[in-house]
Amino acid sequence: MDKVILNGMICDGSGSAPEAKDLLIKDGRIADVAPRGSFNQCDAEKIDAAGKIVAPGFIDVHSHGDVRKLQFPGRRSVLLQGVTTEVDGNCGSGLSCVPGSSGDFKWQNLDEYARIINDLTIPVNTVVLAGHNSIRRHIMGDRPDKASPDELKAMRKLLENALSSGAAGWSSGLTYFPGKFSDEDELKALSQATSGSEKIYATHMRSEGDDLFNAVEEAIHVAQAGSKRLQISHLKTIFPRNFNKIDRLLEIIETHRRTMDIHADRYPYIHSSTVIRQILPPPYDKMVDIKERLSACENFREEIVAALKNSPRDLSTTILISQNRTLAEIALDKGIPVERAAMEVLMENPSFSAAYLCMSETNLKRILALPYVCAGSDAISCQLDDPTAEGHPRAIGTFPKFYNLVSKMCPIGETVRKMTGLPATVFRIPERGFIRKNYIADLVIFDAQELDSAAGFSRNNMLPKGIDKVFVNGKIAWNSAEPEKIGDAGRFIAVN
Ligand SMILES: [Zn+2]
Repeated sequence: MDKVILNGMICDGSGSAPEAKDLLIKDGRIADVAPRGSFNQCDAEKIDAAGKIVAPGFIDVHSHGDVRKLQFPGRRSVLLQGVTTEVDGNCGSGLSCVPGSSGDFKWQNLDEYARIINDLTIPVNTVVLAGHNSIRRHIMGDRPDKASPDELKAMRKLLENALSSGAAGWSSGLTYFPGKFSDEDELKALSQATSGSEKIYATHMRSEGDDLFNAVEEAIHVAQAGSKRLQISHLKTIFPRNFNKIDRLLEIIETHRRTMDIHADRYPYIHSSTVIRQILPPPYDKMVDIKERLSACENFREEIVAALKNSPRDLSTTILISQNRTLAEIALDKGIPVERAAMEVLMENPSFSAAYLCMSETNLKRILALPYVCAGSDAISCQLDDPTAEGHPRAIGTFPKFYNLVSKMCPIGETVRKMTGLPATVFRIPERGFIRKNYIADLVIFDAQELDSAAGFSRNNMLPKGIDKVFVNGKIAWNSAEPEKIGDAGRFIAVN
C-alpha cells in the first residue's frame, strides 16, 4: 500500500531549510512532495510526522560492519540511529573484495558477497569499498616487503574486479598491518585503477599526529594518481602536542580542494578505540608475539614496565573497555603503578579493546562544522544484543550526537546535508541521500529537540533518543512504537 507522511517538516538533504510539506511513497520510491494537505484524499497509509523532521535516511560513510553483519544481521546499531545505508570496508579492511568467509557464508569476490547480502534480511543498505590491507594480505600475506611487479599486478587485478562489481572506491589503513609496509609508489600504482572514473580513495592516513602533514600530502598524491577524488577518514589531530596542527592541516586540504575533490568524515567523540597493544612504544609495537614474550620472561616484563613510561598514549586515561575502567583506576585498585597495571593487561590479552582520550574537543567542533565533512561512525556496527560488540559508544550514538553537536553550529538544513546529501554525493550513491521525486524512499523521521545519544562505554547498547521511524527502500525498517520489529529491506548498492 502507498504511504503518505503528513504534517512533518521536510528537510531534503540539499542544505535547504526544512519546509512544511507532505510526502507520498509509492513502490518504494518518493512519488511526490507537495504542500500540506495535497495527499489528504489519497488512498494510502497515513503517517503523522507532526512536530518532527522528515529527512533522507542517514548515510554512514565510515563503517566496519561488512563481515559482522553476516553473522548478526538483525537489530543493528546503525538502523536505530536513523541510518539507512552504511559504507563498509574502510581503513583498508574491506573483506568483501577478496575470497573470505564468515560462519557458513563464503565468497570468492564482491559479486558473491553482494549476493549473500541480498539473500540475508539485513535492515539497512550496504555500499562497500575495496580494502588495500585485505588485498595486500591476500597477495603477499603480512610480509614487510616492497611489492614486486607481479604482486602489484595481482593486487591491481583484485582492485579492478571489485571496482567493476560496484565498489564505491577503495580504502587504505596505513597504520595497520600490512598496509604500513606499502610505500607511496605502490599506492599510486593501485590508484591508477580509478583513473577516469568517479571511484573514491578513502584513507586512514599513515599518521594523524606527529607526521600528519606528510601523511596528508601522501594521501593527496595517491588520489591525484587516480580519480583525483579523496576522502580523509576520521579527520583529526591526535595527542595534545599535535592539536595546534589543525590550522596548517586545513590550509593544505583547502588549497588542494581548489583543484581536486577532497572530503572527510568524523565521528563526534574525542576518544578513539582500538586494541590495547597501541600503548606500546617502538620497537615493541612491531612485536606480534608480545603476549608470549611477556608470559615467558620476568626480565622482559620489567623491560616493558620501564618502556611504558614512554608510551605514545596517555595510560592513565586509557579505558579498558571490557571493564569500563581506566588503567589508572585499575592500578589504584591493585596498589601498583599504572605502567605495571598496563603491562599486566597486555600479558592477559594485547588485543583487548581500549579507548584512548587523544583528541581535542575544540578541534572536533571545528572539523564537524566544515562544509566538506560528513558524518561517519568508524564503528564496527553491531547487533545490539551481540555481547562481543566493540564497545565504543560511536557504534550506537554517532548520528544523534553528530546532529546534536553540529546543529548548535550550523542551520538544520546544513546539519542534515552532512549526514545525507553530502555523503551520497561524495560516494556517488545513486538515487539516495535526498528527498527528490523518484528517488528511493530511504527516510528518517525524528524529533529535532530530542535527538541525542547518552551512550557511554558502559552503556553502549543504550538506544538513542528522538528517532521516530526509519524507512528503507520504502518499507518501515524501525518504528519507535514497535521497537522490537526490524525491517528486512536492505540491499547491496552497486556504485558504477
Ligand atoms: Zn581508521
